[in-house]
This record gives sequence, C-alpha cells and structure tokens, in this order.
Amino acid sequence: MSNNALIKEFESIVGADNVMTSETDRHTYSYDAAVLDSVMPAMVVRPTTSEQLGKAVKVCNDNGLPLTVRGAGTNLSGGTIPHPGGVVVLTNGLNRILEINEEDMYAVVEPGVVTARFAAEVAKRGLFYPPDPGSQTVSTIGGNVAENAGGLRGLKYGVTKDYVMGVDFWDVEGELIHSGSRTVKCVTGYNLAGLMVASEGTLGVFDKVILKLIPPVKAAKSMMAIFPSVKAASETVAAIISSKIVPATLELMDNFTIRTVENFRKAGLPTEAAALLLIEVDGHPAEVEEDAARVEEICRQNKADEVKVANDAAERDAVWQARRDALPALAKLKPTCVLEDATVPRSKIPAMIEVLEEVSNKYNLTIGTFGHAGDGNLHPTILTDKRDEKEWERVEEAVDMIFERALALGGTLSGEHGIGLAKSKFMINETSAGTLAYARRMKSVLDPKGILNPGKIIG
Ligand SMILES: Cc1cc2nc3c(=O)[nH]c(=O)nc-3n(C[C@H](O)[C@H](O)[C@H](O)COP(=O)(O)OP(=O)(O)OC[C@H]3O[C@@H](n4cnc5c(N)ncnc54)[C@H](O)[C@@H]3O)c2cc1C
Repeated sequence: MSNNALIKEFESIVGADNVMTSETDRHTYSYDAAVLDSVMPAMVVRPTTSEQLGKAVKVCNDNGLPLTVRGAGTNLSGGTIPHPGGVVVLTNGLNRILEINEEDMYAVVEPGVVTARFAAEVAKRGLFYPPDPGSQTVSTIGGNVAENAGGLRGLKYGVTKDYVMGVDFWDVEGELIHSGSRTVKCVTGYNLAGLMVASEGTLGVFDKVILKLIPPVKAAKSMMAIFPSVKAASETVAAIISSKIVPATLELMDNFTIRTVENFRKAGLPTEAAALLLIEVDGHPAEVEEDAARVEEICRQNKADEVKVANDAAERDAVWQARRDALPALAKLKPTCVLEDATVPRSKIPAMIEVLEEVSNKYNLTIGTFGHAGDGNLHPTILTDKRDEKEWERVEEAVDMIFERALALGGTLSGEHGIGLAKSKFMINETSAGTLAYARRMKSVLDPKGILNPGKIIG
C-alpha cells in the first residue's frame, strides 16, 4: 500500500484528527528520555477505543509496518524510539479506569492511564497501589507494565510485576488475547501476563491491565541519616537489610547529589554530608515505632553523624521531595545526563559504590549517585555534553565498565529502566547465546514479520 493509502486506511479507523504526519508531529515522537539519536516515524496514530487499537495493529502487520507503542515516552532505554519509517501508536487516548473493585481489591485500566492519577483514584477508595516510579505524574500503566517499572517503594512492596494480575493484549493478527484473571490465584494455562511484563512492546500491544490493590498503610515514619562517608552509608544499607527489617523505602544520595538538590530547591539538606540515607518504615503503629528505633540505632552504630526523624507530614514530604528532585536537579547541570541503572545484590552495594568512584576517577567524569540502595539499584548519573566527542568516548567506556563490574558482582544490567535499544548490545554478557536464540525464536513465532518494536531488547 502506498503511504497515502496507508494514511487513509488509518484515518478510516481512528479519524483524520488522530493520524499525524506533519514533520513537527513526527519529530515530537522521534525520541524519548534515553540519550540516543532520534528516529523519525512515517506517521503517528492515536486510537481512542480498544477496537481501534486492535485494527491499527492489524493494519501494521498486514502491511509489514514497524509499530512502536508509546505511552508517555519517559522510558530511559530507547524503548519508544521508532523504527525508521515506522508507525508510532500513541495510547494517551486510551486512558479510562474501567473498574476499581473494592471488595476483591483489583482494578482494570486501559494502558494510557497515568500512574499517579490511577494511584490517587485508588486511594480515594481507601486502597493502595504501591508502584511509584519517579515519573509517575506522567508515565502510563502500559509503559510501567512494559518496562516492569519500579520506584521508591520497591524494597517492601515490590515492583509493577507484583501487581499485574492479567493483561489483555492484541497480537499482530489483531486478535485480542486474554491472560490472567480477576482472582487472587490463577494457573489457567501459560502465564502470558507474566510474559508481557517487561516485554517493551515487542510481543503484543496491551489493551487492558488488571492490577492488584492492597490495603493502605496504617502508619509510617521517615528519617534522614547523615553520614561522613558514602562507604559508611552503603554499609548501613547492608546492615539494615541483614537485621531483617524491611523498610518501605531505603534511598541513598551522595554529596554531589545532595548539593545539587539543595541548589535546585532549598530543602534544608546538609550540604556538608558525604552521604544521606532517606528511610521510611511503615506498618502497624507499634511496629513502626519499634522498627524506626532499631533503624536509627543501626545508623548510629554504622557511624551516622545524625539521624533526623520527620515530625509531621510536611517534614516527611520534604524528605521525599528532595529525593524526587535528584534527577531533575542533576539533569539541569549539563547538556547531557546519562542515568544508569545497573543493579547488584544488596550486600554488594558498598563494593558497587567503590566501583563508581573508580569509574569517575579513571575516566575523569562527574558522576552523581543516588537511588534505591535498599534494592541494590543505584542510579549513577554521568553529567556530560554529548557534543564533546572526546568526553563522550570516555562516557561510553565508563558505562561499559559500570555494567561489566555490576555483572561481576552478581548483578544485572537493569533493575527497572529496561533494555530497549540502549542496552541490547550488553544482553549477551548477562545471558547466553542460547538464551538470546530462545528469545528470538519465541519472538519470530509471535511476530513473524518482526513488526513489533523492532531492534529492542534482543536486537
Ligand atoms: C524523571 C524520570 C524518573 C523516572 N523514574 C523511574 C523510576 O523511579 N522507576 C522506574 O522504573 N522508571 C523510572 N523512569 C523511567 C520511565 O518513567 C518508566 O520506564 C515508565 O514505566 C515508562 O512509562 P511510559 O508511559 O513513559 O512508557 P513509554 O516510555 O511510552 O514506553 C515504555 C515501553 O513500553 C512500551 N509500551 C507502552 N505502552 C504499551 C502498550 N500499551 N503495550 C505494549 N507496550 C507498551 C513501549 O513500546 C516502550 O517499549 C523515570 C523516567 C524519568 C524521565
């Protein structure tokens, strides 16, 4: 079919207003939050009903058109960079919360529902949806499931996959596939919903997601522990975990990040501190008191200079706002901000911190480190300018070294940001030729023409 005929075909499905072909529109959807070159799609299609979504997928497959689904485009691994001349299918018109079931504690949503809006609606009904990626005010549930997004609460409450009870998705033939159920237990057939989690738009296009909800937290206590060295802070993380207390959140910030955040928004952070741990314990009020006291004690035993406990909701919000400011504050410092995601077993956090110091010195790069230390998931953030070719070469070598060392410590390439285009070349280092061949065989059966988000994850 010619390009014009394809445009007409898509217009007949979603309406002329929802097919975008101008250079400006195509440019808008040519990149995402990863530091990668943009790629122009041929057109952008915006379905507003489930039926339209299924038909759009089928037209792409019938015509061998590469299709990249896009939620908010906030992923950090190039998952929504289109294939040259392909089609971007936007899900922001599929943004309905279809059901919140208070009795059975689940919800059914369309893929374009924004995460924070969903969590707020759930909270209004007296329930709790814990996954809270830093991008939650714009990221979508479809994108969260496709990336298996984490967040600040991953340590105690798990990540998106722990809340996915089912996914209805369109296969390339335009058939609606059902997986999972509204029941707590379900072993009916293959766990296709599990397969869809972290599939980054390469195996099917989500139409609806069934999500588990849980009772809200009864009480919580937040604190900020100030350390004289990053080593002491990272050893404290390992000590808290091994004491069998599971905080809801256990985050680390190094001195560079602390100073940058304080310059960004005067939050009263101790700019002279070598490192901070931001910790929240939650649960039954009595348990919270006991855990908070024990965590404070462990911090002091591990050389914390001071532990400040938030006295009220305002102080607590200030602690978490400071943490959420880390990435935007760092990103303002230099034209290019490379946020990495390598993750290690939690006991290896002190070793990983040493690796990052070594990388920074060896390649003479500015690296701010913060992240979900309690999950072993640090976000070393390299501040640079991609136009400086010499420095950029050093950045690429530094990233290689971070992954190599994380894997050597028994870690993984990505804790939560996905593989996409950015890390597909490293997959062989963590998996094996046989594993990749298995994944490619599976993909070629489910998507014989290879139209679903080509190039992502398995190359
Ligand atoms: C400031 C900032 C903070 C962040 N903080 C975190 C964090 O704390 N934790 C974390 O895990 N991530 C974080 N991220 C990364 C990002 O927000 C997450 O990966 C998020 O899940 C992406 O959601 P999205 O709607 O933007 O998806 P997109 O970027 O639009 O898409 C992501 C992937 O999902 C696929 N996809 C989207 N919709 C569908 C669908 N309907 N069917 C099939 N595939 C689909 C896309 O093809 C793509 O491969 C952050 C990003 C930024 C910019």
